Amino acid sequence: MPERDLEEEHFAKLDREKLAKLKAKQDAEAHQQAAADRKALHFHKCGKCGDDMDTKPFRGVEIEICRACGAVLLDPGELETLAGEDQGGVLKGLFSMFKGEPV
Ligand SMILES: [Zn+2]
Repeated sequence: MPERDLEEEHFAKLDREKLAKLKAKQDAEAHQQAAADRKALHFHKCGKCGDDMDTKPFRGVEIEICRACGAVLLDPGELETLAGEDQGGVLKGLFSMFKGEPV
């Protein structure tokens, strides 16, 4: 293969690699922006009715309660905290159900 063709092939390969990196960076930025947009749209909104949720302390954890329908949202670990205070009780059973364990 002539040297000029090898050179063109080399630069074409570099261009393809740069384009692939640029596309990956743009995809990652678009994914982050979409996640930020979703959070801004749904933060502290009820998953059942869409109304605002209030944060209230309950037995050492901060739980979110919907102003309109009363649905309750727990952050990761909060159910475990509440279940820990209720050994063998209703919350312990709920926690097991959420984990897919036999109730
Ligand atoms: Zn609601």
